[in-house]
Amino acid sequence: DGTLQENHEAAIAEATDGVDFGNYIDGETVDAASGETFSPEDPAVGVALADVARGDEADVDRGVSAARNAFDGEWGDLTAMERGDALREWAAALRDNLDELALLGTLEVGKPLYAARADAETGIAFIEYYASVAAAQEGRVPDVGDDSFAYVREEPYGATGQILPWNYPILLLGWKVGAALAAGNTSVTKPPEQAPLAIVRAAQLSKGILPDGVFNVVNGYGDEAGAAVSSHDGLNKLSFTGSVPVGREVMRSAADDVTPVTLELGGKNPFVVFPDADVEEAAETAAVAGLYNNGQSCDSGTRLLIHEDIETEFLDHYLDAVADRSVGDPLQDANQGPLCYREHLEKVEEYVELGREEGATVLAGGERPEGDLSAGYYFEPTVFGDVTPDMRIANEEVFGPVQFVMTFESYEEAVEIANGTEYGLTAGVFTENASRAHRAAADIQAGSIWVNQYFGTVPGTPFGGFKNSGIGRECGKDALEEYTQDKSVHLALDDPAL
Ligand code: NAD
Repeated sequence: DGTLQENHEAAIAEATDGVDFGNYIDGETVDAASGETFSPEDPAVGVALADVARGDEADVDRGVSAARNAFDGEWGDLTAMERGDALREWAAALRDNLDELALLGTLEVGKPLYAARADAETGIAFIEYYASVAAAQEGRVPDVGDDSFAYVREEPYGATGQILPWNYPILLLGWKVGAALAAGNTSVTKPPEQAPLAIVRAAQLSKGILPDGVFNVVNGYGDEAGAAVSSHDGLNKLSFTGSVPVGREVMRSAADDVTPVTLELGGKNPFVVFPDADVEEAAETAAVAGLYNNGQSCDSGTRLLIHEDIETEFLDHYLDAVADRSVGDPLQDANQGPLCYREHLEKVEEYVELGREEGATVLAGGERPEGDLSAGYYFEPTVFGDVTPDMRIANEEVFGPVQFVMTFESYEEAVEIANGTEYGLTAGVFTENASRAHRAAADIQAGSIWVNQYFGTVPGTPFGGFKNSGIGRECGKDALEEYTQDKSVHLALDDPAL
């Protein structure tokens, strides 16, 4: 019943008191070798959360040694079924502590509790999925003729590195580390500097379940701990999720040791509504597509491409749906909390200013809310009209609660605009015509297409980008493929004694 600030300070104390947010290496929570720490903030009130170990090269070295030893030791000897059992037990421990993980997610990312809970639950579900499919990797026996017998082994790489962004910490941990471990690898994970707390707790909750050294966490900044992970010659595979420029750097430094990389990068995703769509349903879904998690999702549907015949009807429903979204205290389950950190809010504001300068019209929002919320990093849900395909706001990833509406006349024009950016991660298609839906799904260049729905990444389907949105696929058994290398074994069958 206190002020926003008092409530958050009480919640921070509840979530962090008595917890050591060190690095987690070889089964122990340890300080950075340098002894340095940093403090992420609660973006709802701009208050420091906790001291976190500031790792660098020396800590990544320790993590990699632990991961290599664990791979050469007990973990490497387990069967896939046994690895699955260990992952299932870890997932159960995370589920038992779901409230704590969700609260940490709310405090470090600014997500409303319901969304932080969904983030953690989804991540756990992915670990459970990978526990289930670990043993489904069975290799292959190709037909190579009668004189020889050949089989293909799918072998883990060994020690692998995962670099994570801040927008879905536990979900992405489940995607990456769940798959890496299920495939038989060990991990050195670098959490985002803005939101490392829930990941550190998830690591601590693996103690006694995963053998020491199987899952290691080295906290710190991108140019310190992150760069040390991407350039380490002791890691045999890297998986990075984040922005395109950093993805390029990770790929460059991986090239020195010819380390394979999976890159999950940004998106500027089209949401196309054809004239035969259920317009009201499309409009309500569009508001969620762009504004869920404050638009801080790689798969946010930010480019609303609406057929000109239904523009007025769509806008009526859609702008109502946008106006209905509440911005407020994430501990009180507003639809949207603050953006994740101050510099990010400033970047989003600059983009909104740029949109105005480029000649777009603000149809909703466009400002920081006033009053109680001014101490945090909040921004109003914002919609632009009068946008043309050549504008920067139509092409660059804003990663905030900012959508725009553009109209099209023909199917061909819709597809051309949809495919007109450097990205190709996801797309939404709304139509009641099945042929048009399938044709658009084939013509739009994106790794995932949602028809008459938006969002929803389920464990069984691969997820990843066309074009600059990335390389490789996460989720599904595809991620197990990414985390294994094939070995062909050939055996002569032409025994001269026969
Ligand atoms: P970011 O690229 O700034 O940082 C991501 C991670 O890389 C962080 O852990 C950071 O510390 C680390 N890093 C930074 N510099 C580094 C360097 N030189 N070497 C190694 N690591 C370094 O991205 P962000 O702001 O945390 O996340 C937002 C971006 O992530 C958006 O572009 C979003 O679209 C993308 N994203 C993509 C997916 C996907 O699945 N495609 C999912 C979520 C987020």
